[in-house]
Amino acid sequence: MNYVIPPAAVVSLPIVGSDQRFPVRRVYCVGRNYVEHAKEMGFTGREAPFFFLKPADAVAVCAAGDTVDIAYPSLTKNYHHEVELVVAIGTGGKNIAAADAVKHIYGYAIGLDMTRRDLQGESKKTGRPWEIGKAVDQSAPTGPITPITQSGEINSGNIALTVNGKTTQSSDVDKLIWSINEIIEHLSAAWELQPGDLIMTGTPEGVAAVVAGDVMVASCAGVESITVRLV
Ligand code: MN
Repeated sequence: MNYVIPPAAVVSLPIVGSDQRFPVRRVYCVGRNYVEHAKEMGFTGREAPFFFLKPADAVAVCAAGDTVDIAYPSLTKNYHHEVELVVAIGTGGKNIAAADAVKHIYGYAIGLDMTRRDLQGESKKTGRPWEIGKAVDQSAPTGPITPITQSGEINSGNIALTVNGKTTQSSDVDKLIWSINEIIEHLSAAWELQPGDLIMTGTPEGVAAVVAGDVMVASCAGVESITVRLV
């Protein structure tokens, strides 16, 4: 192909136990999907799931054993961590029933939905889009994908984040308000899912600001942990 400029590289994640890669198409994110996090953000009650996206090139690729540097972004004085279980879609589809959703999962990884909280707050107040707060460069550090054939279906297990060795977030995947299967049902009603899509499934309570120099370790039972340093 004779492009006028070089096309952007495909973002891809390592796969546990393989030298093949998982190419990323889209990054869907679920808002307020753990009760205690919804409360800390000032919301109560079960609401219908809602979604936003990050660009695929917001993924900061984290390999096992690496410390990955991400830049503290511009315009914010309140950059928050949100640790999330990430689902990787291997088979696309639309209007997927929750009962069939597991067949569409390729695997799982741990990820961070880094958020310019002050700008997201402004967006909420003014009724503007969330991209300025959420679709930030390098705002989706994501680890290696463990195929579901190795992990089995993940519907429970500790999910946690430490900052400089101190635990700030710790919960269990079984506390998701909308289960992974239900998320896939709702998402695929709104968009046709495709192989390569990632879904960040929401964060538990304990979100907090980090600053340059902080080192975060994100983990979830069944997948490989990641280490991310803000610089
Ligand atoms: Mn989030």
